[in-house]
Amino acid sequence: DAIITLQGVTKTYDNGSQALVNLNLEIKRGDFLFITGPSGSGKSTLLKLLYGEERVNDGDVRVDGYDLTTLRGDRLSQLRRRIGIVFQDYKLIPRRTVLENVAFVLWAQGLPRKEIHRRLQPALKMVGLTHKANCFPEQLSGGEQQRVSIARAIVGTPPILLADEPTGNLDPENSWQVIKILKKLNSVGITVIVTTHDESLIRLSNHPAVQLRNGYLYRPKG
Ligand code: ADP
Ligand code: ADP
Repeated sequence: DAIITLQGVTKTYDNGSQALVNLNLEIKRGDFLFITGPSGSGKSTLLKLLYGEERVNDGDVRVDGYDLTTLRGDRLSQLRRRIGIVFQDYKLIPRRTVLENVAFVLWAQGLPRKEIHRRLQPALKMVGLTHKANCFPEQLSGGEQQRVSIARAIVGTPPILLADEPTGNLDPENSWQVIKILKKLNSVGITVIVTTHDESLIRLSNHPAVQLRNGYLYRPKG
């Protein structure tokens, strides 16, 4: 049961930069997949295609039943509610507390106050930050800020979680803590896709990895 399918996907940016070339990839519901490869190999572009931030020049992208080649407007917003996204630089709102940062998505979706409060605690608990709910991002370590961004990504209970170099700014210990949280989310059924150029994290975590090089996708043997 594939939740994500890319078929013959080519992405060339307007400046001629070839980011992905004839890429085929199928990801099953409940998978945990690493996408590895050096800087500039197309990892971010691949994720951007999945949440409709960029569009293919050629080929097909399907995510959770949505056809990304034509998806726009309300239907694109619908899909985006089904995808949690985590970035390398956290992208937290500086003048809002941890709780407010996490709640913001739900406010924006117009959920009732009671429902928002019902969802906040489990999300913060999942990332171990219940005790930091009223802190501001600048009062937190990098690892903690990334965990807030994970709580924000999952508070809407999306079936898919995309993480673009989530450990890129973290030391090995905090990196591993982030991966452990992603593994826990995967174990409760969320499909998780993580880009990283850190091969040691991949070895430690025991999940499959595909590699991008100059926009071409390679699979491990066996
Ligand atoms: P990675 O995430 O592996 O570092 P990217 O997907 O960011 O790789 O980039 C893949 C290629 O596409 C690179 O050559 C990069 O310079 C180029 N690229 C990425 N984004 C843009 C953009 N908005 N405009 C033009 N070229 C881009
Ligand atoms: P790390 O070793 O992960 O980089 P830090 O040394 O940045 O962590 O922070 C250690 C602890 O101190 C964290 O729990 C963090 O929340 C807290 N902390 C860091 N900076 C501040 C600050 N400016 N105000 C309040 N608490 C802080």
